[in-house]
Amino acid sequence: MREFIHSPISEFTFNDINFLVKRDDLLPNQINGNKARKLAFYLFHDFPKIDTLIGCGGNQSNLMYALSVLAKLKRWQFIYYTPQLSKGSKNSIDGNLAASINNDMQLIEVNHQEFKSLPLQIQQLILPNQLFISHDLADNHAEFGFKQLANEIKLYTTNQRIENLNLFIPSGTGISALYLQKHLPNFKVYTTNCIADKNYLAQQFKKLDEHTPPPIIFENTSFRFANPNFLLLKTIKQVQPASNIEFDLIYDPVGWKILLDNLEQISGPIMYIHCGGTLGNESMLARYRYNKLI
Ligand SMILES: *Cc1c(COP(=O)(O)O)cnc(C)c1O
Repeated sequence: MREFIHSPISEFTFNDINFLVKRDDLLPNQINGNKARKLAFYLFHDFPKIDTLIGCGGNQSNLMYALSVLAKLKRWQFIYYTPQLSKGSKNSIDGNLAASINNDMQLIEVNHQEFKSLPLQIQQLILPNQLFISHDLADNHAEFGFKQLANEIKLYTTNQRIENLNLFIPSGTGISALYLQKHLPNFKVYTTNCIADKNYLAQQFKKLDEHTPPPIIFENTSFRFANPNFLLLKTIKQVQPASNIEFDLIYDPVGWKILLDNLEQISGPIMYIHCGGTLGNESMLARYRYNKLI
């Protein structure tokens, strides 16, 4: 196989507004959502010299899990560096971490200070049989998969005779939003900053490609990354039954809350990009319970 089978598109109505949802959560190969798009280049090319994959990042990251699946499919060893685990996370290994360890990931904990300079060090020490895919995926062929995603969306809009489509995708690094916008220049991509402030995201867009007109950022000033929040829970508890779709509990509640708060700024049909990540819901629900919000 040289590319993904097109992911389906669902439709639902919420508060009298029709939403399309691009179901990248339903992509095959157990790799979730936009991480599958980010890793498509590696999935669909051969690397005969490589036998070891190296990654680094947080211990519940969706990318970590996607890398563990990639390594398994390719029969590569997978070594992953992460900042020292807290006692709590060591005692209850769940979600993405449990699933990745189950895929034979070798976890190496380093102290927080060391971790900052780690990507650079790995890059310098990398051997010819090793492949390093860093968490910001800079220079890592992430664009390849989003070209296909854009083509799938173009084909759909042509078939449905939709002339102006608005896309919404919640951002972490902004890689997904930017490459989607780059390959869908006739449509508007809207996003919100989930992991840091609006400036960080705007900088990321510039850093990735200064020639692409950047996606439009609806600023998130209220919600801190991966923090349980009553308003977010309320939003996702309304959207999930209305859509009959399970969303991720880290990015999507912020995405939907900010999108619903800014609807008056959008005219025409709206497509929400489901980025997968639902495997991490178990550990996020545990945090909600710990905070006594459920
Ligand atoms: C990684 C991720 C995002 C953010 O993607 P970026 O390309 O880093 O902006 C959004 N939603 C989910 C579920 C993710 O796993």
